[in-house]
Amino acid sequence: MSRSVGILGGGQLARMLVLAGAPMGLRFVLLDQAPDACAAQLAPLVRARFDDGTALESFAGRVEVATFDFENVPADSAALLAGRVPVHPSPAALSVAQDRFSEKSLFRELGIPVAPFEAVDSREGLARAVDAVGLPCILKTRRLGYDGKGQFRLRQADDLDAAWAALGPQAGSVGLILEAFVPFQREVSVLAVRSANGDFAHWPVTENWHDSGILAASMAPARIDAGLAARAVGHARTLAERLDYVGVFALELFVRDGGLFANEMAPRVHNSGHWTIEGAETSQFENHLRAVLGLALGSTAARGHSVMLNWIGELPEADAVLAADGGHWHDYGKPPRPGRKVGHATFRHDDPEQLARVLAEAGRRLGRQAQVQGPLSRLGLPV
Ligand code: AMP
Repeated sequence: MSRSVGILGGGQLARMLVLAGAPMGLRFVLLDQAPDACAAQLAPLVRARFDDGTALESFAGRVEVATFDFENVPADSAALLAGRVPVHPSPAALSVAQDRFSEKSLFRELGIPVAPFEAVDSREGLARAVDAVGLPCILKTRRLGYDGKGQFRLRQADDLDAAWAALGPQAGSVGLILEAFVPFQREVSVLAVRSANGDFAHWPVTENWHDSGILAASMAPARIDAGLAARAVGHARTLAERLDYVGVFALELFVRDGGLFANEMAPRVHNSGHWTIEGAETSQFENHLRAVLGLALGSTAARGHSVMLNWIGELPEADAVLAADGGHWHDYGKPPRPGRKVGHATFRHDDPEQLARVLAEAGRRLGRQAQVQGPLSRLGLPV
């Protein structure tokens, strides 16, 4: 096939896209400013900032289509690129997802349920927003926040000063949004893919556990009833159609008392879909490439049940994963650093009870009981 795909960003998502594209004969070019971008171990890197016009021009000259492993690409850069080659998802879809306020406003307009939220641009505005939204609530940056960064939780009226001291200085640059806190019973994500001719497919809804704002574990299929899952998928489809979206995306939702509240959309392949590499007929990475290249989408059916554990900061010993029945080890080739995603493991089995036993044993050997607690209790085995 020998077609060439450009990826803005050279992190682990780009790395897994490259790995998925290799059997299809695809070639890749990456653009990232980090000299040690981990995907550059597998594909050529144009080392430049995302706003370097000259570098973007030469990058565009080497690829037939461009996509992202990172959503916070400056709008001007995405537009420049789109003037040269097809870019998927479109700069317009990217820009909605870059701003929590525009994203949540679109959810509301489309009838996708969201918890109350207000834009905040001053200390007085924060007080008004707290009155409107209620306590407890979370003050977040509108742009450039990720993995729980740029967030401050307010529990009582006394917390307003501390919240403003923490995030107020960023009100002028990235903007702020105040959201009601949702005391959710579980977090789920819909991973879906849409092709340029409007074909839409979704993987089974995934259940997620976060630790300090960072994804710690995911399990698929989520243990939610079919009606709720169908509603979640319906919201994802409505969103994709409205944005004329092309590629894979994730819609993250909170589940509370049988109802759904949309939190955010990620306009790219997503950490909660890493299980699809071994746990689905076609992985999120392969289907993203199929979609951006205008190829037929592959089946998103799950192969049994999967649990993914993220490795944050440093890798544990691989042995406990490799020795597990249905255990798969992923090392992103990144130097260890606190808070950094450096790898993951996926445990897959046809039988959920067997999966729970394998996971319990691996959790003990890895010293990760806390991380496997959520998936184990949902799988119905004592921790
Ligand atoms: P975010 O960066 O918005 O994805 O937030 C990271 C994590 O913080 C979420 O996955 C939740 O676990 C938690 N969180 C964020 N916003 C809220 C909210 N409004 N209510 C409850 N938990 C939240």
